[in-house]
Amino acid sequence: MASSFLLSSVAKRLEGKVALITGGASGLGECTAKLFARLGARVVVADIQDHKGRVLCDSLGPDTASYVHCDVTKESDVARAVDAAVARHGKLDVMFSNAGVVGPRQKSFPDCEVDDFQRLLSVNVTGVFLTTKHAARVMTPARQGSIVITASTASTIAESLVPHAYTCSKHAVVGLMRSAAAELGKHGIRVNCVSPHGVATPLTMASFDLDKEAFEATIERSANLKGVRLGAEDVAQAVAYLAGDESRYVSGVNLLLDGGFTIAK
Ligand code: NAD
Repeated sequence: MASSFLLSSVAKRLEGKVALITGGASGLGECTAKLFARLGARVVVADIQDHKGRVLCDSLGPDTASYVHCDVTKESDVARAVDAAVARHGKLDVMFSNAGVVGPRQKSFPDCEVDDFQRLLSVNVTGVFLTTKHAARVMTPARQGSIVITASTASTIAESLVPHAYTCSKHAVVGLMRSAAAELGKHGIRVNCVSPHGVATPLTMASFDLDKEAFEATIERSANLKGVRLGAEDVAQAVAYLAGDESRYVSGVNLLLDGGFTIAK
């Protein structure tokens, strides 16, 4: 009896939480939305892929998930998405600021275009700034909340396979996370990053000339830890930890999910 109670409370460890997930229609965001729903959270999926987002929310059920169109580069969209979550559920406990792009392939510096650079930073950095700002707006009066930002292993090292702008953007969001954690802690709001190594998602499949198996095998070879392949579910589990009360004293952390890739070359 006691153990089944324990199991069910672990199984539903996000029960009662309301989470907004940007970039929630695909890849890591989609997987996290599904896990959050299984763990008992109510989820608002915010993305620019409206059809995909709506299909996902329909599959999770109307009591559990709803979709809002939100281009994270537009402050009015971000403000509306946060307000929609609060209007529907009365609060916002978790902001998963996850939307991101890789942009055109890596080029050497003389060939880089400033427009490409600025476009990528507007999604990967300005988008995180805006989602943090508007999450803080509604979390501050509630005196609680967890903001989780998707960075990358490219937040700690320069990876030759990704564009300079991407590496720059992922380093930048760790700085933004630390700055936000430093300010918002006094309001009971925690801010952290998750930094995955490569996961086969539409983003990576479109960026590398490899099929899923070859991509995953390449990532597995590059990691120090052997015998395990990183999947979207591993990232979702880390986000669930940072979102939930198990991590209630964790703030200002960049949680690397890289099988030792960045420490043991
Ligand atoms: P994905 O392409 O599957 O998902 C990204 C989602 O973001 C898409 O649904 C897309 O429509 C959405 N999006 C893009 N621009 C947007 C905008 N302006 N406003 C709102 N939504 C927007 O990719 P993914 O691999 O799931 O990537 C999610 C995050 O994880 C990104 O920040 C990415 O940089 C990061 N990341 C991915 C990997 C990986 O290997 N897949 C590794 C490290 C970090």
